[in-house]
Amino acid sequence: MRVTKLFTKTLRDAPADEVSKNAQLLIRAGYVYKEMAGAYAYLPLGLRVIEKIKQVVREEMNAVGSNELIMTSLQRKEVWEKTGRWDEKVVDVWFKTKLQDETEVGLGWSHEEPIVEMLKQYVQSYKDLPISLYQFQTKMRNELRARSGIMRGREFVMKDMYSFHRSAEDLESYYNQTIEAYKRVYDRLGIGAETYVTFASGGAFTKFSHEFQTICEAGEDVIYLHREKNVAINEEVIDEAVKELGIERAELEKVKTAETGNIFNFGSQKTDEMDLHFTDENGTKQSLYIGSYGIGITRAMGVIVEKMSDDKGLVWPVNIAPYQIYLVSIGENGSKQADALYDELTAKGVEVLYDDRDERPGAKFADSELLGIPTRVTVSDRLVEEGKFEVTDRASGQMKTLTKDEFLATIST
Ligand code: ATP
Ligand code: MG
Repeated sequence: MRVTKLFTKTLRDAPADEVSKNAQLLIRAGYVYKEMAGAYAYLPLGLRVIEKIKQVVREEMNAVGSNELIMTSLQRKEVWEKTGRWDEKVVDVWFKTKLQDETEVGLGWSHEEPIVEMLKQYVQSYKDLPISLYQFQTKMRNELRARSGIMRGREFVMKDMYSFHRSAEDLESYYNQTIEAYKRVYDRLGIGAETYVTFASGGAFTKFSHEFQTICEAGEDVIYLHREKNVAINEEVIDEAVKELGIERAELEKVKTAETGNIFNFGSQKTDEMDLHFTDENGTKQSLYIGSYGIGITRAMGVIVEKMSDDKGLVWPVNIAPYQIYLVSIGENGSKQADALYDELTAKGVEVLYDDRDERPGAKFADSELLGIPTRVTVSDRLVEEGKFEVTDRASGQMKTLTKDEFLATIST
């Protein structure tokens, strides 16, 4: 992509009403546009990051045998009434609206009930199980506060997965496999070392649910952590959990975190409430066991920005950077050489953002840093004469002068 073809421009200042660091940087760098508090448009660069995060998640969900689909955003009232969750005293984030004929409908803040309802049409016998389904979808939640930028949206992208089993044991085994899959996701997103599987409240069937909490100053949660023992507990359940796990509270470190994902074991409660059953080998009607597994795609993106950016701007991990290389041309000769290098790299499938603008070098360098592309390659009149390029690593700031062959050897395609 040529920068002259990007419709976005970098901004010196973020909008005055934007208080969160992640949104300030993403807006300044042209990744997102703020429509209103809690609602952000993802512009071409931002969309590429979202798609990369989704692809990592997709590969890992596929690897545990889940199948991708997309449910609807419009949801039926009767479906949610079955579990009592149409009630706004029970679920306080509903956006509700009406069809022209006055039928009340909800906008999907979760798809737990609709997917259970849908499966009634597809699950009859034990032979149909297990089933695991997931989607990436824009959830709508009328959150009371939305001051954390893209970390808490009123409209945000979630990956939600649901699994359906014939027994508690089968669910448990899948649940544990999913924990491992989630760990791989966070590793690949570059936040694995700082993301803890955390005991949390809210398990309907088990005593605890599991949250994936990423250490982050801008997060809204607090966990108690034992780094060596690799134990983390949400403060909401700290008293109960220390008792249960036999840990000394004094040994635990209190840290601020953001919940980037969570998983729940629903047991068979929801299937009983909603009357989703299957028949076993003996023709007996049985309850299904359900697990629910979320990842906040846009929240994870916000957390990565919060954790990795520096005073110059964004710093993307290679796996989710919108482009791998920021190519800068300086001077006339440099431009010609840069054009050729751009074509060559693009043909090889390398993702290059080429700053082909007629701008001073300082402005191009500043933008390359704000945009956070992992590697900057500078082609200047001076270096071209020696057959060399300047290659700068965004994260460390380290600069090397390499010949073209040396540079090409550093990029994996
Ligand atoms: P929170 O306690 O932060 O409100 P939640 O318990 O409501 O989260 P879930 O309903 O289980 O979360 O959603 C699954 C995942 O979606 C969460 O772990 C989080 O990463 C993400 N998420 C939830 N609410 C939001 C939001 N308003 N904006 C962005 N991401 C969100
Ligand atoms: Mg919530």
